[in-house]
This record gives sequence, C-alpha cells and structure tokens, in this order.
Amino acid sequence: MEKNGKRERQRGNEREGEDSLDIAEVTAENKRPKPENAVTIAVSTRVLFRTEREQKVFERHGVEEYLRYQIQHENEPFAPGPAFPFVKALEAVNSRLRQLYPQSEELFDIVLVTYNHAHVGIRLINTINHHNLFIERFCMTGGSSPIGYLAAWHTDLYLSADAQKVREALAEGIAVATVFMPEKQTEVSESQLRVAFDGDAVLFSDESERIFKAHGLDKFFEHERQNEDTLLDHGPLKGFLEALGKLQKKFYAKGQRLDCPIRTYLVTARSAASSGLRALKTLRAWGLEIDEALFLAGAPKGPMLEKIRPHIYFDDQMFHVEGAAEMGTIAAHVPYGVAQKRQAGK
Ligand SMILES: [Mg+2]
Repeated sequence: MEKNGKRERQRGNEREGEDSLDIAEVTAENKRPKPENAVTIAVSTRVLFRTEREQKVFERHGVEEYLRYQIQHENEPFAPGPAFPFVKALEAVNSRLRQLYPQSEELFDIVLVTYNHAHVGIRLINTINHHNLFIERFCMTGGSSPIGYLAAWHTDLYLSADAQKVREALAEGIAVATVFMPEKQTEVSESQLRVAFDGDAVLFSDESERIFKAHGLDKFFEHERQNEDTLLDHGPLKGFLEALGKLQKKFYAKGQRLDCPIRTYLVTARSAASSGLRALKTLRAWGLEIDEALFLAGAPKGPMLEKIRPHIYFDDQMFHVEGAAEMGTIAAHVPYGVAQKRQAGK
C-alpha cells in the first residue's frame, strides 16, 4: 500500500520536478546508484551546516539582502552542523561497501535539500568540497516545498530543522525527523555509524502508548502482557531500520559481523521483564535485528545515550529529545502519535 502511495506521489510530482536543480550527473566517473537501489538520506542545509548567521540576515532583512549576503560570502564554507558527523559516517560505510561490492548500487545516497535559490548553490558546492563530502544530489527548491521531490527520490530518511516541513513530510508517509542544534556535542565514531531508536511511536506504532496515556502504567503493563504474542504495528522509522539492516547483512555475508560499520540500538522506556518481550518479538517477526536493546524501565535516556554515542537518536517525545540533547547527543524528534497531542495541549 505504501509503495503504491509512493509511486502515486512520484507521478504527481514529475512536472513539479522540472524547476528543481539536479546536478546528479556532474561527476561521470563516480557512478550514482539508482534511487530504488540506494538508501536515500535527504538532509537539509540547516542540519548539515551551521547557517544561523545567514538565517538571521534572511529574517531581519528579507530575501534580496539574504541572497546578496550569500553571494558575497560564497567562498567562505559553512561550518559543520548537527547532522554532519552522521553524514560523514554514512560515507565511511559507503567506502567499506564499495571495497566489498565494487559493482553494487546498494549504498547510502545523500541528497542535500534546501529551500534556497540556486544562487546559493555555489556556496554550498564550495562548502561540500571544502569538507570533502560526496554529495552530488542537490534539491534546491527556491522556496517551495521539497516534499514532492523526496517522494520521487524514494527517500528512506529526511532530516530537517523545520518542524512544520517535517510534519508535512510525515503526513506523506516519509520517515522524517526534526534535528536541533545542541549546545554541546559528544564526539562520535568516524568509522562506525551508530543509530539509536526509541520503540513506541518511532519503530512501532503508538498503540501501546495510547493505553499508557489513557489508563496509566499498570494498565499498560497488563495490556502488553496480554498481547505479548500480538505483533505491534509499524511506526514511521521502521523502514529506515530495515534499510540499515539490509546494508548490515552485506557485511555479515562477507564475514564482517563483528566488524560491521553499522550498529543499531533500541533505547526504550519499556521494561525488559514485561513490556519488553512484545517489542523484541515484533522486531524478530519483522526479520529485523537490532544490535543492542536497552530497556530503561522509565529511567532517563540521556545518560545511556551518552555511553552509546550514537550519531543520531530518534524519539517521538520532546522530553526525551531534550534530555538526550542536554547530554550532548544529537537527538531528532519524530512528530508522530498520541504524545504530540499532549504536547500541543500543554
Ligand atoms: Mg516513544
């Protein structure tokens, strides 16, 4: 059903796509994978780079002054933003994949998404070259929404700083999260990509979360025990975990399970003894391996994440996102499920 939806959107956006700038063909020797084979990660300029100063120029002086500013400064590269180490780690995984499978198109493909006008492209390309990034797909929408393009690119994950755009993309069935600029940033591995996920309303649907919110913790435990053998429905980021698993298996097939450059973590407030079983049984039934599962039974997630040092952590509750960010983890908010109503109602 989802696949059909994706195709429908793709058809609908073909015409719209004409005014986007796609420079995918620039480097002929570095063959780009087809979107349907690749794991496509779309990141916005504001999460990949630090653009706060430019943002201020735009807000205070308007678009014309902003464009003038960008052109004047086009030889000054932007500094790395919160998603930068994540993108670097994707590229580290890609180089390992290319060594093992020189012909395969099953790689991460990174798309830089920006609402910017194409004039700003020169500064972006200079920045990408300055930081030795391998990003050849640009989506410069000149102010209009990039969501149609994301669907056309079979996007497996979209990271943006714009909470409204993130909600719109989520409504279109795209795996998406809002990334915030943290005050401190823990150092992360340059050779192993680590991705941490919350369970309910991220990998799983929010069905159990609803029971908890409506009837409290005791009823939640009772419900999860009773439904231990009933699989949870999928949440918005299940597909991304699946995509990571697909690439992990390529390393396992070459005997590199212990040296795999991708590691995944479930960091959930569920407790192992009772409600954890249903989560693990669901993942197993989906055929998804998660490398480490941490059942915190309500303990704060920040300290655990500080130990894991993931490149990114996904959670549906701002409370956990903020707790993780305070301790230096790049945390991203997935605005899905019953917790959002509660936050909006506060
Ligand atoms: Mg949750």
